Amino acid sequence: MNTIPSTPGTVWLVGAGPGDPDLLTLRAARLVMNAQLIVHDGLVDPAILALARPGTQLISVAKQRSRHTLQQDEINALLVREALAGRNVVRLKGGDPFIFGRGGEEAEACRAAGVPVEVVPGISAAIGAAAAAGMPLTHRSHASIVSFVAGQCKGLSDQNWTGLAGKGRTLVIYMGLATSEAIAEKLIADGLAPEIPVAVIENATRPQMRVLRSSLAGMPALVATHQVKSPAIIVIGEAAGESKTESLRALALEGMQ
Ligand code: SAH
Repeated sequence: MNTIPSTPGTVWLVGAGPGDPDLLTLRAARLVMNAQLIVHDGLVDPAILALARPGTQLISVAKQRSRHTLQQDEINALLVREALAGRNVVRLKGGDPFIFGRGGEEAEACRAAGVPVEVVPGISAAIGAAAAAGMPLTHRSHASIVSFVAGQCKGLSDQNWTGLAGKGRTLVIYMGLATSEAIAEKLIADGLAPEIPVAVIENATRPQMRVLRSSLAGMPALVATHQVKSPAIIVIGEAAGESKTESLRALALEGMQ
C-alpha cells in the first residue's frame, strides 16, 4: 500500500558555481556528497556530479532553448512530487540559483505546494570568470558600477540597458552569444563608443577556458571567427581591456617574487 508521508522532504536549491569543483561552497559539497536524489542542469560540471555517492539518483533536466517554458513547469512538478513523496532533493544549478537560474520560480512552486526550500548560494559565472581571467569587475581607477544582464533573444529589444555600460561601468552579459550582433548594435545605438573594450570568456574556471578580446564593434566577428560556444559571458567596459588585466597580472607576479 502506498502511503503519503506526513512530512515532505526539503528541496535544496544549490549553486554549483561556474565549473571548477573547488569553487563549490562547503555546504554545497556536503549536500552533493550526501544526496539521495540530485536534479541537475546541463551546465553542472561532470566533475561535480562525480562527488555524489554511487547510490545517488541523478536526474538531468538540461534545457533546450526552444522548449524553455514547458520544461520549467515539468522541473517544478518533479521537485514537488519527489519532496511530497518524502525525499530530500538537491536541485543543483550552474552558478548561483538566483542569478538567471530560475531558482525563484522553483522556490515559489515548492512553497505553493507546502514543500520546504533552502537556498545555497553559488559563485555566479560573472564572478568566477572575472577571477579566472584576472579581470576585476570593479576597480577604484576605472569602474564603480557593475551590472548583470541576460542577452537571450526573447525581449532583447524591449530591455532598457541605457546607462548600464560606459565610462566607470562594467556590463556583464549572460546568455549573449546567439545575439552578440544585436547586442553590439543595441549598445552602439544607445551611444556607447564602438571601440570600448569587450572580453568574451568561454568555459570560465574550466580547463578549456578561453578569454577573447575585441572592441564592441568587433565582438560579433570575434564570436564567429573563434566559434565561441556556450557557456560564455561577455564583459563590456574598461575592465575588459587587455591593459587592465595585464597590469594587474604583472603586479600579482611581482608580489609573488
Ligand atoms: N545561474 C547561472 C547562470 C545561468 S544562465 C550563474 O549564476 O552563473 C546560463 C549562462 O551563464 C550561460 O549562457 C553563460 O552566459 C553563463 N555561464 C555559466 N557558466 C559559465 C562558465 N563556466 N563560463 C562562462 N559563462 C558561463
